[in-house]
Amino acid sequence: MNYNKVTEDMIANLQSIVGSRNVIVEQEKLETYAGDEVPEAEWKHLPEVVVKPDNAQQVSEVLKLANRELVPVTPRGAGTGLAAGAVPMIGGIVLSLENMNRILEIDNENLFMVVEPGVTTGDVQRKAQEEGYLYAGDPCSADSSFIGGNVATNAGGNKAVKYGTTSKHIYGLEVVLATGEIITLGGKCVKDVTGYDLVHLMVGSEGTLGVVTKIYLKLLPKPKYNSVLLVPFADMQTAINVVPKIMTTVGVIPTSIEFMDNLCIKSAESFLDRKLPYNDAGAYIIIEVEAYSDAQLESDCENIAGICYENGGLEVFIGNDKANQDKIWKPRRVLAEALRVTSPVYCMEDIVVPISNIPKLLEAIEQISKKYTIKIPCFGHAGDGNVHATLLKENLDDATWYEVKEKVLEEIYFVTYACEGKLSGEHGIGAKRKKAMAKFMNPVELRMIASIKKALDPNLILNPDKLVELC
Ligand SMILES: Cc1cc2nc3c(=O)[nH]c(=O)nc-3n(C[C@H](O)[C@H](O)[C@H](O)COP(=O)(O)OP(=O)(O)OC[C@H]3O[C@@H](n4cnc5c(N)ncnc54)[C@H](O)[C@@H]3O)c2cc1C
Repeated sequence: MNYNKVTEDMIANLQSIVGSRNVIVEQEKLETYAGDEVPEAEWKHLPEVVVKPDNAQQVSEVLKLANRELVPVTPRGAGTGLAAGAVPMIGGIVLSLENMNRILEIDNENLFMVVEPGVTTGDVQRKAQEEGYLYAGDPCSADSSFIGGNVATNAGGNKAVKYGTTSKHIYGLEVVLATGEIITLGGKCVKDVTGYDLVHLMVGSEGTLGVVTKIYLKLLPKPKYNSVLLVPFADMQTAINVVPKIMTTVGVIPTSIEFMDNLCIKSAESFLDRKLPYNDAGAYIIIEVEAYSDAQLESDCENIAGICYENGGLEVFIGNDKANQDKIWKPRRVLAEALRVTSPVYCMEDIVVPISNIPKLLEAIEQISKKYTIKIPCFGHAGDGNVHATLLKENLDDATWYEVKEKVLEEIYFVTYACEGKLSGEHGIGAKRKKAMAKFMNPVELRMIASIKKALDPNLILNPDKLVELC
């Protein structure tokens, strides 16, 4: 596709749409919008201009202009993505949703919150809590990611085992299409088979089909009681083997079942500068349980602790109050930053397999790590089969790193598919995994994705060079 460059005339037009102070052209300020949280230099690209609209009408005017002039537009939330999804790979306009950060409505009768896309996930969670409800979306980046970014990536996170990924909490969206049309899909109805499920086509579409400008979020009654359990195990395989047992025998679905291997434990310990219990353990499992009565919570925790002890748990630490729960969660929550300190350049993967296949997958990753003499700490959401295998560059020179990384990724993806898995459970494809999509995804599925994209964005201006090859 041959796109045009942003001209002086176009900048003047953009200024008249969103106001001069919401148009950025200065080089040093553009740099803030060149990348996301993927650390490698190949995933940084400068936009030609950044625009910060205040409402859907302005988004619509910007898209109409870009569509007419054939200039690419990359929607951007908080830039915490881990797939280079918000990176303007071929320049053009970055459309930042940061100014659209209002909570518009709390509907106490239907249990909905209506928000703009630039509200942080943490603010959505806190507002729900203040009103006596639960917003169940909970990516580890909640304090910084935007809810619009969570919608666009169908973010998962710690509570997906029990409550599902972001899509489960989305009932309606206002979206601006590449043509500039503003459309509300879904809304507050709990059931809706009035045509295709376009709401959930948009969720997880990574800014390639439309710009999300308003979101209808479902709220839930807030469970009154919760506990967090930390269970160290001698080795990773024993730890992971306990997960299906918890899921199938306790009679309760835990809110979270997370895991981290020994390399992660060591990395978190050094980052937090505090001694963690059983720091030589092969792995930790962290389990959170919620209940509506104290007696129920106690009984669920006892049952889970029993299963862990019977299956190799070295000890079970239970956090019943917030301070102890935070202490248990902290090492898991800081892992992305801790690994970055261990190795400033790394490659965090997001593979997902059925939970019964996690032991096989982790065993294979260990073999690959030994074969290429590269450290691959693993952590993630054991309860939903989502493994963040993280390749560390450490002291490798750039050329060796790129060569080894390509080979290791190829082998990891291969074994993931052999374990009935997929490339990404929650971070998405973005630019980073586009090549792997072409290789590992069924060609018919690829063709379906390309057809939908072309139908909704005929000039291919929205977030080009992401997900699939189109030209
Ligand atoms: C420390 C850390 C922990 C993390 N933990 C998790 C986790 O537990 N679970 C998880 O799923 N992810 C996690 N992530 C990844 C990331 O936070 C999520 O992918 C998040 O949903 C991205 O939101 P964002 O606002 O930063 O989006 P961005 O990174 O800005 O954008 C992500 C994608 O969404 C598109 N987009 C953004 N806003 C819109 C919009 N309004 N309309 C259309 N498209 C849009 C962009 O074009 C891009 O393709 C983590 C990241 C970090 C750094």
